[in-house]
Amino acid sequence: MLPFGSVKSGVVLIFGGKGWRFGWLEKTIYEKIQVHLKNPLLNYINGQWCASHATECLNVINPATADILTQVPLSANDDVEAAAVAGATAFKNWRRTPPTTRVQYLFKLKSLLEKHLEELARTITQECGKTIAESKAELQRAIENVEVACGIPILMQGYNLEDVARGIDEIMIRQPVGVTAIIAPFNFPGMIPFWFLPYAIACGNTCIVKPSEKVPLTMQKVFELLEATELPKGVVNLVHGTKEVVDAILEHPTIRGISFVGSSPVAQYVYSKGAAHGKRMQCQGGAKNPLIVLPDADMEMTTRIAADSAFGCAGQRCLAASVAVTVGEARHSFTEAIASAAQSRVVGYGLQEGVEMGPVITPQSQARIEGLIQQGEKEGATVLVDGRHPQVSGYEQGNFIRPTILQNVNPKGSIARTEIFGPVLGLMHLETIEDAIAFVNNSQWGNMACLFTSSGAAARQFRYEAEAGNIGINIGVAAPMAFFPFSGWKDSFYGDLHGQGRDAVEFFTQTKVVVERWFKDWSRQF
Ligand code: NAD
Repeated sequence: MLPFGSVKSGVVLIFGGKGWRFGWLEKTIYEKIQVHLKNPLLNYINGQWCASHATECLNVINPATADILTQVPLSANDDVEAAAVAGATAFKNWRRTPPTTRVQYLFKLKSLLEKHLEELARTITQECGKTIAESKAELQRAIENVEVACGIPILMQGYNLEDVARGIDEIMIRQPVGVTAIIAPFNFPGMIPFWFLPYAIACGNTCIVKPSEKVPLTMQKVFELLEATELPKGVVNLVHGTKEVVDAILEHPTIRGISFVGSSPVAQYVYSKGAAHGKRMQCQGGAKNPLIVLPDADMEMTTRIAADSAFGCAGQRCLAASVAVTVGEARHSFTEAIASAAQSRVVGYGLQEGVEMGPVITPQSQARIEGLIQQGEKEGATVLVDGRHPQVSGYEQGNFIRPTILQNVNPKGSIARTEIFGPVLGLMHLETIEDAIAFVNNSQWGNMACLFTSSGAAARQFRYEAEAGNIGINIGVAAPMAFFPFSGWKDSFYGDLHGQGRDAVEFFTQTKVVVERWFKDWSRQF
């Protein structure tokens, strides 16, 4: 638990997972979050910070130190009800607010996010575990989405055609859908809500955000910045919790559109239940991303990029490389180089300088990943680099796994097919690019597939034939910029319109077509 009250930077007594101990408290962070960092955290509904109706709370734990950062309330139906009422009430006036005025709040938000970037990044690292550089990078993408949404006066425009019949004009206009909700996963607490939130409110909708219960602090801070923009009350609302809150959102008659990002089984559940309740849904799910390495690839660059893709964010990225397929002669040079890149990666607490990879999110996640490595071995793979049970000095309680590489992976087994969501790369070998594309297309997943080559023809063949929503050519994390959709196919996505850019604008608006005729003009025509 963090202490409260007014103190300066210095050594304080902190209670955490390891009992009472002395720790360093930074004044800047402390002062800025003390108001609403109550324990348990507060919801933000109708412009007010308010206590949840929760009867239970969960500890929010720093995955590197095992310190308890705060407690998150498991909010109830009543909290969702209050947020939906606030959203519906605010919508009446917000939808009438000119888009040029609505984006002024986003301009303010952009500058506040930039001003508080360092502090937000530290919060992400503390609750999520990634390195400070990775935390800053995800916030940059969040800001980029705010910038794109500031173009809403143009992006939201419809179209028209005069004289579809003599004297008759047809006009398509876009209108907001109403109260919307965002349900987020743990792995990008600062970025993923921004694939949706800026577009939702710029289009004139109101919004309820439910962050992951594992990492609620980042959105808590973001909502303080949203409050500082002086958005009208009820336009944005924050409700903490887990399944009960999600179910209440899915069933609430006032909530018209839901954006979800998380694992595929939950995405599928959320999609089906929300759709059955008549809502527009966009649900991004899990992934299993292959990298294909052809013999003509620049092996030094390829290895460096592949290691960043597989081990960056401790492999907890929906665009992380999870299996590398070498084709023909690429096998030996790639295997040797990627093993050495894995072994040299510096693992530790993400706030420490020089650290290149942090822990995974929970001890349960660590155990699941280690179990999958063991399963891979049983299925015939051999462990080339073993990252299990590392000693990370000073962070013995953290959920660390070092980069791990398995080779001779069974193409039908767990390492080739199951989402691992940890710093584990499986190696496979195939003879031709056609075999590799067939492997990609045989997967239930379709989030990302990447090819490394110096051949334009091979690149074109791959881009054309690979069945995945994000394709990388000599790129290891093919993350689309904010003005492109964050795509995803097959079991990696349920719905139609994706997050970010024009897709988000379409999702957060409904089209209305007006066919009109004016009799004076009409009579002149005949
Ligand atoms: P998760 O599915 O466990 O949780 C996601 C959200 O759903 C959380 O807010 C959680 O509270 C809620 N939730 C969990 N179980 C639920 C249930 N039974 N009923 C209703 N709601 C429930 O996912 P996670 O572990 O937080 O995130 C990691 C997953 O997200 C990975 O599978 C990863 O691939 C995926 N992901 C996908 C993308 C993408 O763009 N496709 C991006 C990021 C993460």
